[in-house]
Amino acid sequence: MHVEVNHLDKHFGTFHAVKDVSFSIKKGQLIGLLGPSGGGKTSILRMLAGLESPDYGDILFHGKKVNHLSPQERGIGFVFQSYALFKHMTVYENIAFGLKVKKVNKSFIQSRVMELVELTGLSGFEQRYPHQLSGGQRQRVAFARALAPEPQLLLLDEPFAAIDAKIRQELRSWLRELIERVGITSIFVTHDQDEAIEVADEIMIISQGQLEQKGTPWNIYQQPATPFVAKFIGESTLVDDASQLKGFDEAALPGTKALIRPEYIEIGSEHDFRILSATDKGIIKHLHFRGNQWLVEVEVGGHHLVTYHSLEKDNLEVGQEVRVLVHRAYLYNYEENWVAENR
Ligand code: ATP
Repeated sequence: MHVEVNHLDKHFGTFHAVKDVSFSIKKGQLIGLLGPSGGGKTSILRMLAGLESPDYGDILFHGKKVNHLSPQERGIGFVFQSYALFKHMTVYENIAFGLKVKKVNKSFIQSRVMELVELTGLSGFEQRYPHQLSGGQRQRVAFARALAPEPQLLLLDEPFAAIDAKIRQELRSWLRELIERVGITSIFVTHDQDEAIEVADEIMIISQGQLEQKGTPWNIYQQPATPFVAKFIGESTLVDDASQLKGFDEAALPGTKALIRPEYIEIGSEHDFRILSATDKGIIKHLHFRGNQWLVEVEVGGHHLVTYHSLEKDNLEVGQEVRVLVHRAYLYNYEENWVAENR
């Protein structure tokens, strides 16, 4: 289903929770709503669902305004963070619930439930009760139950938040495949940037009630539209005066802000760089062990830059002097946009 939202606005008392948010979502897309806690993600989801009504703005499904429709009339499936399964019902009964309410005939219910059991990898678990399932299995039942009545839009509010890291990882790829197979337009709320980057076709960054940027994970990471997005997604360093960095002195006027990603910073000894004059001198301030690599904080001219360093290379030490080469930075220009600048 094609979804369009125009100038959505919502107050809770005097608190302005959602501020003039507009976006559109193409049929079959999986969209991640990402942002810090309290930013307004759930409020947007609840307005789409019809659980909350906007103060202002329109919500259109298939080009038709649905503001006045109840949640039931909107043809939406939900999955929440807490599994919200019916405890006294088996897996089969949970999945069948939405169809029974609709008074669909029995043989159809049976074939639809079995289809979903198959689709969500729950074969053999039909007669179990929720307490006899793992967290990951319960959440798959929640998906099957939401999909059973063939909704046109699936809304997911932090669906994996209560699940262990390892299973969570598996469920992400599982969700991606499921959504592709079913071909349903889906929106999921998360505050986990890795989850959004890995799973979503497009990400919407929401902060303080505003939509900061909407784009593919690639765009959001490589071309952050605002300083907030740049800081929120991925590791980075914000440099107040890019003109102080070697190689950026021409591109950046004094006082131009720059954002630098770790992967565009190289550190090493004097022997490691052919043209030494292109590098800055830095001092290693902190080393953080990340399992497969080091995250290194290096001070260059009063700025703490963050970069990665592989484990195989020479041991680094705190206090050591190194050479630092910055390949690329996002400069914040006077039109208030970030522009990627290669040296
Ligand atoms: P989280 O990631 O913590 O769930 P969120 O981005 O989903 O956050 P919302 O749940 O949409 O944020 O909340 C946005 C703001 O609106 C918060 O400050 C919250 O306290 C407030 N808010 C949400 N619902 C209500 C309500 N029913 N009454 C009053 N304030 C509310």
